[in-house]
Amino acid sequence: MPELPEVETTVRILRPKVLGMNLLALQALDPALAPVAKLLPLPQPVQGLTRRGKYILFQLSEKLLVVHLRMSGRLAWHEKEPIPDHTRLILAFPHGAVLFIDPRRLGTVEVQDGFSEELGPDALGDLSFLEEALKESRAPIKVWLLDQRNIAGLGNIYAAEALFLAGIDPRRRASSLSPQEVSKLKAAIHQVLHEALAAMGTTLFDKTYRTPVGEAGDYEPRVYGREGLPCKVCGTPIERIELGGRGTYFCPHCQK
Ligand SMILES: [Zn+2]
Repeated sequence: MPELPEVETTVRILRPKVLGMNLLALQALDPALAPVAKLLPLPQPVQGLTRRGKYILFQLSEKLLVVHLRMSGRLAWHEKEPIPDHTRLILAFPHGAVLFIDPRRLGTVEVQDGFSEELGPDALGDLSFLEEALKESRAPIKVWLLDQRNIAGLGNIYAAEALFLAGIDPRRRASSLSPQEVSKLKAAIHQVLHEALAAMGTTLFDKTYRTPVGEAGDYEPRVYGREGLPCKVCGTPIERIELGGRGTYFCPHCQK
């Protein structure tokens, strides 16, 4: 569930807390992550904390620690309170700790020498590549947007939100979009991501996402999760369909 805005918010809040600090130890509470703790020689100072797509990268002096939150993972800054349930890994610093909390245990933590994931351009960056890239794909536009090799950072919520704002039916072939529609889509992607960043992300009914200091995200989806509720623009009930194996929400009147 965490997408670009949630991951970027996590990095922005944690960066000043860990930058330049010595990572003293990794403690795996989940045995599945024990190999990670063994692979990393410690202590090492944190030289950078950055985001690539939906990945979180702790740049250490010798290695890269790469975290992907997947469905239900989050990173939390921890000082004194008891360790919360579902904590899988503790990154210990002299003045506190970063906790990897992950109830569904689908998130990943890896030690790498260099970042090796195959990712498309970042969704927050220059999107002028979309004009050419979309012409080459017969995939439904929503499915195309979710493929991280095409564009990095969008997930099920913000892809649906951007297509609604752009007035584009999620089932349309990517190659069928007119130049005007591509322009609208580029603006819509940036608009929803900036709105969501300002709101510090989206916390849904399942309440799993929190910022590292425990706040909920305030972004209110226009269509995502609103099946049967009236469209905020035209009042038509929002529909939910399956597309590429994912639940997809859209307004059948506003999106052509
Ligand atoms: Zn509508």
